[in-house]
Amino acid sequence: EAAEDANREKTNFLASMSHEIRTPMNVIIGLSQSILATDLPKTVRDDMKNINRASDTLLEIINNILDITKIEEGKTKINNKPYSLADVIAEASNIINVSIGEKPIKFSVRTIGSIPSVLDGDEVKVYQILMNLLSNAVKYTNKGSIVLSIESRIFGDKANLVFKVTDTGIGIKKAYYDKIFQKFERLGQEQKTIQGTGLGLSITKKLVDMLGGKIYFESEYQKGTTFTVEL
Ligand code: ADP
Repeated sequence: EAAEDANREKTNFLASMSHEIRTPMNVIIGLSQSILATDLPKTVRDDMKNINRASDTLLEIINNILDITKIEEGKTKINNKPYSLADVIAEASNIINVSIGEKPIKFSVRTIGSIPSVLDGDEVKVYQILMNLLSNAVKYTNKGSIVLSIESRIFGDKANLVFKVTDTGIGIKKAYYDKIFQKFERLGQEQKTIQGTGLGLSITKKLVDMLGGKIYFESEYQKGTTFTVEL
């Protein structure tokens, strides 16, 4: 009991620290962006870009810690309302195209079957699930392609959605299959320069579970990976 109390204390501390850090982080991100919009000597611009990128990463880490803490404490609720899946996909695609940047990767979206124009569901969670899978695909692919496919099958007033994110990236060794969805687990096969906390997929799995869906993957080392989510 004492150990469990201590653990809860630790989690609470982490969550409130993370929350407190978010405000100053947003100031750093906002100000470095506005400085970048001005005329700067090249070396200053490069440094400023690095400050901006590092603060983005730090904010992402903090947000991940807050997310996982909230889910584990049962504080994350499902919030169903009518939404447009097409809008969610368009927004995610825009961000993914920006993060691909200069990498020689072709990103495309395929739809199979007709997607209802309005769905009733938790838009924010669907967005977060897709973004996590897509940003991993970008992170762990150096060249080739990333395809997001969405298949929709309608049964009465229900839609069965199957999302697939397929990349031609570094792939996943069989020996690591069990670790993929575990908290704070990185596989150690990825390049050291790629930043991450090992929280993205454990959050994604918890969100999919909450929505009553399924998540699984197929991969071939050094060829590529496909993550599938059924909702
Ligand atoms: P993070 O990306 O922050 O390290 P994740 O939980 O999202 O954490 O992923 C866990 C690990 O799974 C990653 O560190 C990486 O080694 C591996 N991984 C995830 N997605 C892919 C992918 N599309 N291709 C290859 N490896 C992947």
